Amino acid sequence: MLAVIGAMKEEVDSLAAGMTVADQQVHAGIDVIRGDFAGVELVLAQCGIGKVNATICTQMLIDLYRPRALIFSGVAGGLLPNMRIGDVVIVSHLIQYDMDLTAFGRRHGELPGKDRMIESDPALVQKAAAAFDAAFPDPAAGPSLMLGTVVSGDRFVQDPDKLRWLQREFAALATEMEGAAVGYTCELNGVPFVVIRALSDTASETASSDFAANLHTVCENSFRVLERLIPDVGARAADGRPAPTSRACPAPSAAPR
Ligand code: SAH
Repeated sequence: MLAVIGAMKEEVDSLAAGMTVADQQVHAGIDVIRGDFAGVELVLAQCGIGKVNATICTQMLIDLYRPRALIFSGVAGGLLPNMRIGDVVIVSHLIQYDMDLTAFGRRHGELPGKDRMIESDPALVQKAAAAFDAAFPDPAAGPSLMLGTVVSGDRFVQDPDKLRWLQREFAALATEMEGAAVGYTCELNGVPFVVIRALSDTASETASSDFAANLHTVCENSFRVLERLIPDVGARAADGRPAPTSRACPAPSAAPR
């Protein structure tokens, strides 16, 4: 079983449309579709916006469905000057940038006893990059791919000063509102994960109108990566064992309630 999360309807619609649905349930107010996509058993949830919603959804999916890997797919605001709307970021590291214990001498994003960096599963990052290459084989025609750090906070960023700060403080490529919460929850539960983001805007003055204008089209870019990644991650070896990820997976458990 794989789990896929998006925050907004537009981020889950294409995948939902391609699934053969076994059942639909609501847990903690979150719609969860269980079914099959390209022969892979899947749960798909739309978590809602922000780190709290993302955390609740991730823990709920892990507890109820015991996924052996989790993928978040959605949109983000790009932080580098040369980025274009529609470019894709495969997230290798995430930071909860609005966690602020600097009063205690800690760095922005740092929690006691924790590294501020949350690392995606390296094997899933590589598989996602390969899925991008398969989805967009002509580098001159399609979106660009970047691998690197993305920061998450409970704020829609449309402010040049804030974007410059995020870029310089965290060496981040993009900003969004869920990824670090998903990653943190997966890390605590030992579930391998990866986050894929297509750029809907560039987090500057026009971000909210750019976001609204581009949401539909750029969601298609993350979906095109997702539709190739899922069969790869879901593939089983000839001996019937799941394809490897970089980390140990939690033990399989009882069927979902
Ligand atoms: N449409 C919503 C607001 C969307 S918030 C409303 O009606 O209020 C933006 C969503 O896209 C979040 O899920 C976030 O993860 C992502 N996102 C895209 N661009 C962003 C930016 N510039 N700053 C923060 N999050 C961004």
